[in-house]
Amino acid sequence: MILPGSTIGVFGSGQLGRMFAIEARKMGYRVHTFSPEGDTPTGQVADFETTADYDDLDAVRKFAKGVDVVTFEFENVPSAATDAAAEFVAVRPHGEILHITQNRLREKAYLSSNCFPVAPFRHITTCENLDTGVAELGFPCVLKTAGFGYDGKGQAKVGSAGDLGAAFESMGGRESILEAFVDFAKEVSVVCARGVDGSFAHYGVIENEHQNHILDVSFSPANMSEKLAAEATDIARSLAEKLDYVGTLCVEFFVTRDDRLLINELAPRPHNSGHLTFDACVTSQFEQQVRAICGLPLGSTEFHKSVAMANLLGDLWANGEPNWSAALAMPAVKLHLYGKTDPRPGRKMGHLTTTAATPQEAARIAREARSSLGSAR
Ligand code: AMP
Repeated sequence: MILPGSTIGVFGSGQLGRMFAIEARKMGYRVHTFSPEGDTPTGQVADFETTADYDDLDAVRKFAKGVDVVTFEFENVPSAATDAAAEFVAVRPHGEILHITQNRLREKAYLSSNCFPVAPFRHITTCENLDTGVAELGFPCVLKTAGFGYDGKGQAKVGSAGDLGAAFESMGGRESILEAFVDFAKEVSVVCARGVDGSFAHYGVIENEHQNHILDVSFSPANMSEKLAAEATDIARSLAEKLDYVGTLCVEFFVTRDDRLLINELAPRPHNSGHLTFDACVTSQFEQQVRAICGLPLGSTEFHKSVAMANLLGDLWANGEPNWSAALAMPAVKLHLYGKTDPRPGRKMGHLTTTAATPQEAARIAREARSSLGSAR
């Protein structure tokens, strides 16, 4: 057991690491973040910040020697870095999970070979492959780079034969995956956690709405039957067991129009859709990650109320500083900002959450609060 007072190392330094560090520090842990950037969202609240490249394995080893356990807040940390850290200290979740989830092809192959439900897919390396893949899966479909993709980056929808050339070109010769297009009714996620002792806890099913492939609004509980919700949490539990997972995990699903669940992707860490647990649950997804990786008992995932979260992207800064007091004038609204100084369009700068009597009401207030940010001060 890694007790309060110990130091937790975090690869990555974005907002997920920041919220993790806030929870860890609340519980008396020290936090050391490692990433190529300085003055980062995580570094601003951590005890120590190392600025070095992930392939600087001497720096990685020095970092690992100074901490009691290592975790990560994004999945594109090179395996070589987690392997080097694992020479000195436990990496949780373990590095093999990172290896599987940082490549869409490996992830989908792992899921389908273990009988978890995914949309049909094909491995694409050449233009000829793509022709055969499309003939097998049919139109429309989606071509994605196998590695380093998130928020719809490295993705091209293929609607007809006329799109094939441009879609293949857009992959820039990188290994890619062709997926059947899912005409989904909705997108949902299950955020869950598994402890060192195999204990399991989940936050039910969260419903997610995207804009331009980026998460826009999440609310809980999702509007779906109890039976389907139980199926989703059962899948998350079996997957966490199969992976011998330790930490917080998010499983993102498509719900098809005929009420089937298909896994879209896994996030081996706390997830944007789980930010609403921070203000609405006894134990947030970040505290759960601290507890899980430190070998402590998992906390209650009980919700105080229905809740919604609206993301705040850099676009909101187009006309200057948003009108924070307008949003905070709604008393149930909570503001989370990540300490980023450069509000680029599409960049996740923060989020708002609000609790209410129903998830629909919470989502309405969260959206209204976000709209009010653009009003005159
Ligand atoms: P991803 O980066 O793979 O999670 O994709 C981002 C978003 O693109 C998803 O949340 C979906 O809204 C959409 N998307 C991805 N793959 C598919 C698919 N096979 N069928 C339909 N929509 C998709």
